[in-house]
Amino acid sequence: MDTTPGFPTLRLVSHPLVQHKLSILRDRETPTKIFKELVDEIAMLMAYEATSDLALEPVEVETPLERTTGQRVSGKKLTLVPILRAGLGMVEGILKLVPSARVGHVGLYRDHDTLEPVEYYFKIPSNPGERDFLLLDPMLATGGSAVAAINSLKSAGAVRIRFLCLVASPVGVKRVHDTHPDVPILCAALDRELNDRGYILPGLGDAGDRLFGTR
Ligand code: URA
Repeated sequence: MDTTPGFPTLRLVSHPLVQHKLSILRDRETPTKIFKELVDEIAMLMAYEATSDLALEPVEVETPLERTTGQRVSGKKLTLVPILRAGLGMVEGILKLVPSARVGHVGLYRDHDTLEPVEYYFKIPSNPGERDFLLLDPMLATGGSAVAAINSLKSAGAVRIRFLCLVASPVGVKRVHDTHPDVPILCAALDRELNDRGYILPGLGDAGDRLFGTR
């Protein structure tokens, strides 16, 4: 995992498989079925990196030969929180890696007049202060939704939050970092810029539309 000068909370997942799959994802000719499968696979590989420092505790195990001490992840179950709707595409892949993870949801829409995100749904498991959260959205564009979702998680009591996206824009990373410097951001690519409609360039288009075939 690489760090990027100027973005202290950003971790770039540079694993060759992630980068290979991301290039196929970017291709405008990639059909919905493959797009969905790739988001699933990349999310799983990124979650592997994102969980590399989870706390462990000793556990006694009886092997077929003798008793030994192993390790297990300690504390309450890891919690995935997709930002609706595109974040949903990252959930199943991560659940393959961490089947016992809990899943909360944050729903946000953009107000036509203020252009600010407005929350219409929020549900997470109990005892948020004792959990590790992975907040999921494939695209970190303006950073408005990510900041709003992190605000909501923190208001509910969450303290350990990591934000996972596939493609990030410099503006989005800066906004999340400036507002929430305690939240690490993991991405597969830091792209060049946003266009005047808020799309990431070169990006991969509208992740929700490409995931759900609503293009
Ligand atoms: N959301 C997307 O789905 N794509 C972008 O490029 C920006 C925001």
